[in-house]
Amino acid sequence: MDKSEKIFVAGHHGLVGSALVRRLEQEGFHNLPKRDRSQLDLADERAVHNFFGEEKPAIVIVAAARVGGIKANNDYPVEFLLDNLRIQNSVIYAAHKAGVRKLLFMGSSCIYPKFAPQPIPETALLNGPLEPTNEAYAIAKIAGIKLCQAFSREYGANFISVMPTNLYGPNDNFDLETSHVLAALLRKAHEAKSRKARELVVWGSGKPRREFLHVTDLASACLFLLEKYDSPEIINIGWGEDISIRELAELICDVVGFDGELVWDATKPDGTPRKLLDTTKLRALGWQPTIPLRQGVAQTYDWFLKNVAG
Ligand code: GDP
Repeated sequence: MDKSEKIFVAGHHGLVGSALVRRLEQEGFHNLPKRDRSQLDLADERAVHNFFGEEKPAIVIVAAARVGGIKANNDYPVEFLLDNLRIQNSVIYAAHKAGVRKLLFMGSSCIYPKFAPQPIPETALLNGPLEPTNEAYAIAKIAGIKLCQAFSREYGANFISVMPTNLYGPNDNFDLETSHVLAALLRKAHEAKSRKARELVVWGSGKPRREFLHVTDLASACLFLLEKYDSPEIINIGWGEDISIRELAELICDVVGFDGELVWDATKPDGTPRKLLDTTKLRALGWQPTIPLRQGVAQTYDWFLKNVAG
């Protein structure tokens, strides 16, 4: 990719989009048009078409989405389905109309069936029922993948779709109602330590297993795939190992310095029992992640202390 190529990162304020912009800028890319939500509503098809007509980006990364943890996903299926369909439909269609050279669509590991084989290969897509707590989000993401594949088949578009595992890092959402587990537990451990509390409440049984990838690693994988991958077939991006929620909670307490008890709230759902991606395909292309979980959690806690904690 030429460093002066115009690259539009849709969703550049979010966890993923902001990491992509940071990485692109570090690599010397400098033609990155940005619009705040107040300037461009990505769900507004006409506004998005006008924007693409004016800016004519060469490359588009679709990192804009309504995202949330297990509770938000479960409580707001309408918003997760409708907002994500609207955003991705308008951006992908406008990108096609404007003749972009390449588009990268950000999927998610929750597109895979609840009881997919572990680690989950790309071929597991649509081979079984989804996990009910995130079905609305998963259906929207599957529609996005299928739209990209349809543009590829019908119009020869170079639209690729990547499936990241659970992500964390700077600019994550630390709201306890809507966040994912890692950010939620960092905040809970920090607040428990600050209050000198004896207990920290963790949702579910602690038995589910999840894989976590630092968002800086994800950004590096996306740039790598923009350069090297031109297939409409989906490709997984992950760390390669998973841990139980109990182990994650213990690691976070250790990093934060909270030494009280973990208390399990069985009224909250566990969700998918296990989510570990098979990353053989990506590794065979020559990419590997570099940020181990403990180091990534420590760095994210540091960011939280500077940017979120009061
Ligand atoms: P998921 O990967 O789509 O299930 O989304 P989450 O990251 O929200 O949840 C992962 C697992 O962590 C689930 O089993 C949750 O029940 C568990 N968990 C434990 N404590 C928390 C918490 O405080 N917040 C969230 N979001 N999940 C938690």
